Amino acid sequence: MNGARDTFGRPLRSLRLSVTDRCNLRCKYCMPEENYRWLPSDHLLSFEETSELVEAFAAAGVEALRVTGGEPLVRRELPVLIGLLAQKPWLRDLSLTTNGVLLGPLAAALRQAGLHRLTVSLDTLEATRFRQLTGRDTHQAVLDGLAEAARVGFPLKLDTVVMRGVNDDELVPLLDFAARLGAELRFIEYMDVGGATRWRQEDVVSRAELLQRLATQLGELEPLAGRGSAPAERFRLRDGRAFGIIASTTQPFCGACDRARLTADGTLFTCLYATAGLDLKTPLRRGDGPALEALVRERWLGRGDRGAEQRLALLDRGPLAPAAVLREEPRLEMHTRGG
Ligand code: SAM
Ligand code: SF4
Ligand code: SF4
Repeated sequence: MNGARDTFGRPLRSLRLSVTDRCNLRCKYCMPEENYRWLPSDHLLSFEETSELVEAFAAAGVEALRVTGGEPLVRRELPVLIGLLAQKPWLRDLSLTTNGVLLGPLAAALRQAGLHRLTVSLDTLEATRFRQLTGRDTHQAVLDGLAEAARVGFPLKLDTVVMRGVNDDELVPLLDFAARLGAELRFIEYMDVGGATRWRQEDVVSRAELLQRLATQLGELEPLAGRGSAPAERFRLRDGRAFGIIASTTQPFCGACDRARLTADGTLFTCLYATAGLDLKTPLRRGDGPALEALVRERWLGRGDRGAEQRLALLDRGPLAPAAVLREEPRLEMHTRGG
């Protein structure tokens, strides 16, 4: 059967699989509190259940998987899941987004299990700033993890959320660091997603401002073609280095969005900002495997989400949800539905 297309004609091509809502960091823009209402552990899909469920998505069009969280590497035995996913004959791209803290000891096993590529979040090169931003003292572990990931041969991307007055003085040092590592850096605009309960418009460094600042410091920037449905717009610096900007806040790319999200307890969300998800764990655990593809397909066919564009249209924009609302509905959290 053909892949599903939503109400705007967007195909379903890519699935972000959150394997845990837990995390070993407390980034201010994502999990500013110390404690959360976590998903009960018996609600988490087993690796076998995840592997079965992704088949329903593949039948509806998915050909790329990104494993995320929370922090995916805190999920025990994660390379076993990667091994199961890597064997899927329909899979064209298997990637993982991590904060890098546990990457050092796991990089070789992930590579061996068949993971294609890695994205590591790195917002600062300064250990003290890292502690202020994440509440933890593990900056060196991230740097060691990155070195090990490069050593075992992973194609690498670095993701940096830029916040005014926090790390916006590190744009060029971060680009230089990425170049030394052989990685491509993407600057991400600070987003007002669930979890970003302290989000303020004035803390966002926009795409336009980033481009202007980089051009002033590094010279002319050449836009690169061929973005497709990718969130990042790519540019080339004069010295040939490429970098990306993910302008989800000021210039959203909902029109080409082919991404679905699955929480660690098997709830499908069709947008980062969607307030209602679809429970797939119950039919999966009932043994109703054949119904799953129909459920995924039907949900995608009815999809009309353009969450970031709708946020942009708001006149008075603040955080998506206050902490009290997130406590009632933890699946609204960025760390639950996967970034
Ligand atoms: N824990 C992993 C990590 O940090 O890479 C994976 C999950 S995390 C939710 C995925 C991505 O979302 C990270 O690159 C993170 O920086 C980004 N993110 C989280 N909150 C954000 C926000 N408020 N604005 C922009 N990006 C955000
Ligand atoms: Fe954890 Fe990633 Fe969220 Fe930071 S961005 S708190 S590392 S899930
Ligand atoms: Fe896709 Fe929703 Fe993000 Fe827009 S806001 S790009 S529809 S996930």
